[in-house]
Amino acid sequence: MTQVQTAGQVTEATLRPPFFNVQHYINGAFVEGQRHFEIHYPATNEVIGRAPEGQAEEVAAAVSAAQAAFKSWGTMPARQRRALLHRFAQLIREHAEELARIETYDVGRPIRENNPAIYIERVAWNLEFFADFAVTHGSEAYLMDNGYVNYVQRMPVGVAALITPWNVPLLLATWKMGPALAFGNTVVLKPAEFTPIGAWKLAQLAHEAGLPPGVFNVVHGFGPDSAGALLTQHPGVRLISFTGESNTGKHIMQAAAPTLKRLSFELGGKGANIIFADADLERAVQISLRASFFNQGEFCLAGPRLLVQRPLYETFLERFVQATREQIRPGDPFDPDTTLGALIHPDHLKRVQFYIELARQQGARVLIGGDRPELPSPLDRGNFLNPTIIEGVQPTDRVCQEEIFGPVVTVLPFDTEEEAIAIANGVAYGLSAVVQTRDAGRAVRVAQALEAGTVWVNDFFVRDLRVPFGGMKQSGIGREGGQYSLEFYTEIKNICLANQ
Ligand code: NAD
Repeated sequence: MTQVQTAGQVTEATLRPPFFNVQHYINGAFVEGQRHFEIHYPATNEVIGRAPEGQAEEVAAAVSAAQAAFKSWGTMPARQRRALLHRFAQLIREHAEELARIETYDVGRPIRENNPAIYIERVAWNLEFFADFAVTHGSEAYLMDNGYVNYVQRMPVGVAALITPWNVPLLLATWKMGPALAFGNTVVLKPAEFTPIGAWKLAQLAHEAGLPPGVFNVVHGFGPDSAGALLTQHPGVRLISFTGESNTGKHIMQAAAPTLKRLSFELGGKGANIIFADADLERAVQISLRASFFNQGEFCLAGPRLLVQRPLYETFLERFVQATREQIRPGDPFDPDTTLGALIHPDHLKRVQFYIELARQQGARVLIGGDRPELPSPLDRGNFLNPTIIEGVQPTDRVCQEEIFGPVVTVLPFDTEEEAIAIANGVAYGLSAVVQTRDAGRAVRVAQALEAGTVWVNDFFVRDLRVPFGGMKQSGIGREGGQYSLEFYTEIKNICLANQ
């Protein structure tokens, strides 16, 4: 089996991490909370802070503050909201280095993947894009035969609960906050329990930007029987935008039913990365490295099912394994040479390892990885796993069907376009897919046949905030982005004007 290389050094940032005393942010004030939970740095599992676990009173206080603030925020001219959100975005840029470091402490992702010019820029742009959208979008009008005029008015909905996962916390927080706030709703954000630091920092920047008290609140805590569930049940919350596991989405849907909340779900994925024999080999290898191992493979949009057309199969696989060995280096996430960070927590690492073991038991071959890298102390206590490529599996095997959410990919050969489409669509998920070919007609045919909310042709993870984003089947309900966010985050009203 091919050996994985590791990045060498242990950085000061890892040896001596700061201690983060995270607080709630409720009604414009930072609140200590009554009970706390520990925050762990995934690269060492060391405790690097504590965060309050939101209780019923804190959730209720945040929702009440948001309800009260809605009266003025919801009627404020969009231009004024825009100015505040632009100021907020500007502060995010000014604190880009700090936010990039926080994201690495929260998630364990390599610092190079938090590049301020790309990653943090997107965190800021999420706010600016929707702030601008809110002042430029139009409205429909219909002239009736009798001269009456119908027009469509959009109004904010009310208090939005935004519930986010741990894998890309800063990006997903502002992806929801941007449209929710720009269109006049007020917000209670419940970040994932594993990654509370970034949301706390965002609250500090929102505060500094001058967002009025109660417009944006952050309540920390867990999901079931905790802040997450309390928010989904609260009658004062009018809409929920949730990103996380498909099963959690089902629970939230039930919890939200008695109060008929409006829901938007961005859920799990199990994307196919389809490589045709005519694809540019080197490009396909580089795209596949990103689609497989970006963010340790803890990425809903990842393409962990590689499907390679048979004439290219052996050549591609050899080159892909070699490139993985040369370019995917687990190590200290703060080392700029590291290209694979630590998984979020030990239980998740065990879960990912379980799938590798399962594949082995079913006779699959692990071509590289499958084990843990040997790293110096204190990284030896972190949740590291080598990049893992598995072949010899069946499309129906659990390892090819279930979301693993780690640096583990399977590779399967196929012969025809139809076969590739059938395998790609043969899972419960439908979030994203990658198609790699130099044949434009084939690219269009295959992309059109795939059951996925997003299809990238000859690239991966290129995002335009105007387009619909979301998933089919078990990958979600609804779409956000551009006009689609406007639809979700606003109520719509028809006003009919008589002409006499
Ligand atoms: P998760 O569902 O366990 O948790 C997500 C959030 O929901 C957390 O804040 C959690 O505290 C909260 N939560 C959990 N149970 C809850 C409940 N019963 N009521 C209310 N809130 C509850 O997901 P995760 O493990 O944090 O994230 C990984 C998952 O997210 C993967 O399945 C991944 O594919 C998905 N994801 C999807 C997208 C997308 O855009 N479709 C993006 C990122 C991540």
